[in-house]
Amino acid sequence: MDNAVLVAVGLTKTYGTGTARVEALRGIDLTLHRGEFVAVMGPSGSGKSSLLHLLAGLDRPTAGSIHLGGVDLAVLDEDQRALLRRRHIGLMFQSFQLLDTLTAEENVALPLAIAGCSADDASRRAARMLGAVGLAHRRQHRPHELSGGEQQRVALARALVIEPLLLLADEPTGNLDSVQGDKIMTLLRQLVEERRQTLLMVTHDAGHAARADRIVYLRDGRIVDGQRGNIGVPSKTGSRGADATPLAVRYVAECVEWSVVPPPCSFNAVAFVAPCARDALEYATEAEEAA
Ligand code: ADP
Repeated sequence: MDNAVLVAVGLTKTYGTGTARVEALRGIDLTLHRGEFVAVMGPSGSGKSSLLHLLAGLDRPTAGSIHLGGVDLAVLDEDQRALLRRRHIGLMFQSFQLLDTLTAEENVALPLAIAGCSADDASRRAARMLGAVGLAHRRQHRPHELSGGEQQRVALARALVIEPLLLLADEPTGNLDSVQGDKIMTLLRQLVEERRQTLLMVTHDAGHAARADRIVYLRDGRIVDGQRGNIGVPSKTGSRGADATPLAVRYVAECVEWSVVPPPCSFNAVAFVAPCARDALEYATEAEEAA
């Protein structure tokens, strides 16, 4: 398991019984290593939310195992799983879920206060984390005084303030316009590069998924051909920036391949290729200009 943060083996999840029985997950094997960014895509009903709930310890699998940081979730009772979640899992949702009566800093400090941190320490760490997401100047603002993108950055700071082993993001750009969504994606990519944050993100946006190191496609509760999604975008800031041009070329080639062989789930292949190709060409041009 060396630097594996999360190891899920043979995960199945069945809801209901008899004619109401639904097999939401049918044997998922997934390993996430430290500093790895994995995007999960798939059509509605394919099992994305069920998977996220299991990995967050919010629900128990029908069969299979999940180890987080070497701890087997199956041996934990409800309270212990809540504790593990509070200490080691950062959660980020499409709706920002901030408390409107609290300032940005108080919202970010909340998980620390719940974990028993002193008020001074919690607010110092919250302020530092708000600085890291570029919101030092908005610390005393309440959520309704912030733009959607800023609110999502506060939510990201709140998820990160506990320094989680694993950050789980459910459609984090779903409520944002494309400019704000891109800013969040840039921040997430930076976290992975600079802090070696492990991140699993569910998204419907193929362009955003392409910023991940690996894309896992779900269909009917199974992972379909995870390797084909392995098309990491050339990074401007990371170690892969140096060889951006060949990576970009490979990236475009793989995207084009996707348009020839329809992807194994129902999203539109053209919609998938267009943003990928645009991003890749942008990176390639920048790399050429820099050379
Ligand atoms: P996705 O997030 O990809 O849309 P879900 O994990 O929400 O998929 O759902 C997978 C399948 O499980 C769907 O058929 C859905 O109707 C079913 N399902 C999800 N949650 C429940 C539940 N609590 N009870 C019964 N069926 C459920």
